[in-house]
Amino acid sequence: QQLQLLLKREQEKSIALQEQNTLLDHQSRTDLLTGIANRAYLEKKLALFFEQASTGQDTLSVIFIDLDHFKQLNDNFGHQVGDDVLRQFAKLLSGLAVEKKHSAGKLQDIMVGRYGGEEFLVLLSQQPPQQAEYLADQLSHALLTTTMLEISGQPLKISASIGIASMSDAIFQTPIELIEAADRSMYLAKRSGRGRTILFDGNRWSIFRKGISLAYALAEFRGEFKTPKKLALMAAIFSQSTASPLTTPKGIAIINYKYSMTYLT
Ligand code: GH3
Ligand code: MG
Ligand code: MG
Repeated sequence: QQLQLLLKREQEKSIALQEQNTLLDHQSRTDLLTGIANRAYLEKKLALFFEQASTGQDTLSVIFIDLDHFKQLNDNFGHQVGDDVLRQFAKLLSGLAVEKKHSAGKLQDIMVGRYGGEEFLVLLSQQPPQQAEYLADQLSHALLTTTMLEISGQPLKISASIGIASMSDAIFQTPIELIEAADRSMYLAKRSGRGRTILFDGNRWSIFRKGISLAYALAEFRGEFKTPKKLALMAAIFSQSTASPLTTPKGIAIINYKYSMTYLT
């Protein structure tokens, strides 16, 4: 009987140890502020996805998100508010990713994490690159319509600059190169006015943005369609098109979605 007692105690110890390990494992993967995946775990997953995508038929896309004017937000409202916004944003982004998982109807690998400061990544494995664009589109739309916090009764909204790179866009030797491509696209989104998404597309670029007319975004970005008349004309064409190629002064543009286009120049 003593032996049984001893055995039971050992079993209990082992279970406690296992639980502790699980907890430690979870903590080592999680970003403390937001509760989503941390950078280390993102990089681990990315390495795995990259390997799968390099050897097999799988696709892989990286969405790089950087919140706009975040320093200013901290300066204006305090670091605590900044932290709250980061938490809210992480919740919003995870919510969209979970929705996507469910709507896809089968288990797909979508991973959301905080890459650092006010930078977030989404990894999408085993689904077409367009899904990344779609998710970014949904996110931009959600940011336009969602109040992050209320400060003295005033709604606080934020915007984000987003860059997307997919394995199919170019030859990437390492996972880091893929992140860098997404980061560069994000940087371009910053430079061309923030609050928008840019797709890395090999040596081509495309742009889409919610909230303002596509033609306007395009004009800003490419410095073309300077006259209001041409701008209005393009806006009219874009608003009617869904998937047909268009001839523009700089070449052919293809509308991928209602809100995105790719240049074939
Ligand atoms: P941009 O639109 O060019 O991205 O401007 P920005 O101000 O967002 O970019 P910048 O890189 O200059 O500043 C990032 C700011 O994010 C600075 C830093 O104080 C803030 N930040 C980073 N991590 C945290 C955090 O954990 N909590 C809070 N509250 N702020 C953070
Ligand atoms: Mg940043
Ligand atoms: Mg920023």
